[in-house]
Amino acid sequence: MTQAENGSPDELAAAVRDLCSRFGEEYWRKADEARAYPEAFVAALTEAGYLACLIPEEYGGAGLGLAEAGTILEEINRTGANAAACHAQMYTMGTLLRHGSREQKARFLPGIASGELRLQAFAVTEPDAGSDTARIRTFAERRGDRYVVNGQKVFISRVDHSDLMMLLARTTPEAKVAKRTDGLSVFMVDLRETGGSVRTRPVATMINHHTSEVFFDDLELPAENRIGEEGEGFRHILSGMNAERILLASESVGDGLYFVDRAAAYARERRVFGRAIGKNQGVQFPIADAYIDVCAAAAVRDRAARLYDGGGSPGAEANMAKYLASRAAWKAANAAMDAFGGWGMASEYGIERKFREARLYMVAPVANNLVLGHIAQHVLKMPRSF
Ligand SMILES: Cc1cc2nc3c(=O)[nH]c(=O)nc-3n(C[C@H](O)[C@H](O)[C@H](O)COP(=O)(O)OP(=O)(O)OC[C@H]3O[C@@H](n4cnc5c(N)ncnc54)[C@H](O)[C@@H]3O)c2cc1C
Repeated sequence: MTQAENGSPDELAAAVRDLCSRFGEEYWRKADEARAYPEAFVAALTEAGYLACLIPEEYGGAGLGLAEAGTILEEINRTGANAAACHAQMYTMGTLLRHGSREQKARFLPGIASGELRLQAFAVTEPDAGSDTARIRTFAERRGDRYVVNGQKVFISRVDHSDLMMLLARTTPEAKVAKRTDGLSVFMVDLRETGGSVRTRPVATMINHHTSEVFFDDLELPAENRIGEEGEGFRHILSGMNAERILLASESVGDGLYFVDRAAAYARERRVFGRAIGKNQGVQFPIADAYIDVCAAAAVRDRAARLYDGGGSPGAEANMAKYLASRAAWKAANAAMDAFGGWGMASEYGIERKFREARLYMVAPVANNLVLGHIAQHVLKMPRSF
């Protein structure tokens, strides 16, 4: 039995905290400064079974749900670590488990569960399409028993630290489909077998995120690497995207709690004008305000995870959880920055690193404006705005 299979949510959180305590602020600061991939941390999580928590037991995983996966990611970020180094292994599971064939699961899942295979990359975004996923142009042309892929992706994270990559590509040209979201398909790419047909180029960002442009030049994929139905890829990844949003909301909840914990502790201890700065409402109220928002976001995240684990497709709840959690974390980040004064900007305190990391979730994996558009259109039945 792996550590991931043990105990109640509190025990799970405590075990994750314990593992993370081996990788303190100095570890993360050095990785951030060197823009290094946190190999030792990811290896420890893999060995403990946490990254395989969603894989069913029959394939060697812990067979847990999104609720537990969310606890793991939340706790990682709450300790000051960065779950973004390895979260794709969890969020790509939604598509593979719900739409992969038995044969595909038997082929990929045991290796992922044991840590022999890393599934850390999910390739959707393209430079010309941006948030408009149906506009992607990377094309997988069927030729007999294989597909030949040509095109370009951007911001594909951890592709250089992964053995497998899930890919969304067009299989029918947009001009020939009734609905723009038709004609897309999902594939599993074994990056170890691509020869020179997949090239990557790093995109430097303000965080240590290992994200890259990816170029496909006549990449050959066996037809059995297609996941689910041809042309149904957009719908297949949508359920996976709900999982992704719930999991990333959990990371933001963890970030928010990290900032609140740190800011409240500092406000209790730091003395200026002869008293703790936390005695001033101008310092304590923003921290309390952010904490309330983080708790509210966590409650919506919990509801979304429960619905998903019950077999549903909670699009609205997953999107709302991601929106609320990313904003709550950002509010908490700013409250912490203010509470720490100048020291918030000093690298040794960790606040400025987490400040940069927390900001990502306002934009990715979906920009918050697009979440508002989704709720306006699909929940509130207003006209589509884009
Ligand atoms: C560090 C990092 C890692 C990432 N990792 C991955 C990955 O692993 N795989 C992957 O596939 N993608 C990844 N992404 C891409 C990410 O999902 C996209 O950046 C995001 O979806 C937004 O797309 P875009 O950057 O092209 O912005 P755009 O779509 O160009 O949008 C720009 C701005 O315009 C706004 N906007 C656009 N259209 C509308 C509209 N109709 N109404 C209102 N506002 C609008 C958006 O809210 C946004 O603020 C990553 C991005 C980053 C920064």
